[in-house]
Amino acid sequence: MSANQHQNDNWHDCPAGELSQMVGRVNTSQRQARRKQLFGTAAACMLLVAVGVFSVGSVFAPNGDFTFGGITCTECHENFAAFERYQTEAATMNQALALSMETHLEQCPRCGKAFEKTYPGILSSELSNQPTMPLLAIASFATLY
Ligand SMILES: [Zn+2]
Repeated sequence: MSANQHQNDNWHDCPAGELSQMVGRVNTSQRQARRKQLFGTAAACMLLVAVGVFSVGSVFAPNGDFTFGGITCTECHENFAAFERYQTEAATMNQALALSMETHLEQCPRCGKAFEKTYPGILSSELSNQPTMPLLAIASFATLY
């Protein structure tokens, strides 16, 4: 017991408020750690959601537009005239945008038709490559029997 007593003699009273300060510091660091963890989880969730939205959004934009070639139907429609001039009059056009337009018009079921309607013949060479004829031939061939 005397040894204990001796050890205790080396201890002295804490300055007023030091303990509560320490508790406060521990609480703060715990809170920060928890916040960091929460933030990490939230960031991971947001990243997942963003990736999900991006991959879905690459086909369906929120306003009902399709996105092909990195542009929406609205953007595609806005550049119909410029793209037509680019195709027929070799007018200058942003190469990236021209490529996006080409991709969009090829892949988008709405804009390809709309562009063909507005500017007939420009995309027709590509459209005629679609394998509708062989299928029709097979279908009519089958009806013979
Ligand atoms: Zn479109």
